[in-house]
Amino acid sequence: MEKVPSRMHPRMKREQKTVEYMIGIYCRDYHLTKGKLCDECHELVEYARLRLENCPFQENKTTCGNCPIHCYKPKLRDRIRAVMRYAGPRMTWSHPLLAIGHMIDGLRKEPGPRKQK
Ligand SMILES: [Zn+2]
Repeated sequence: MEKVPSRMHPRMKREQKTVEYMIGIYCRDYHLTKGKLCDECHELVEYARLRLENCPFQENKTTCGNCPIHCYKPKLRDRIRAVMRYAGPRMTWSHPLLAIGHMIDGLRKEPGPRKQK
């Protein structure tokens, strides 16, 4: 059995933070929640975290939108796509550092091989 890594690479932590932040914007505007995610969006955050923890590319990954694997379940993939489409451009203004980091990560077209430790 493979154990879920408990310590994430900083790059992965940032990606996790970015996803959570975008889901937060989306939930606030679409589901009219205030400061707390609705159950559906909470599920999406948890799912995104699991996917990142189990991503075979880890810190060498590109952004999920550019990844050749597409490991999300179709239903949740549609949801996260809607979130990215809505919150991505908005994040540029409210959280430029996260947005720029995400853009730079997206420039990696092919994920490199995972580093052996
Ligand atoms: Zn929501």
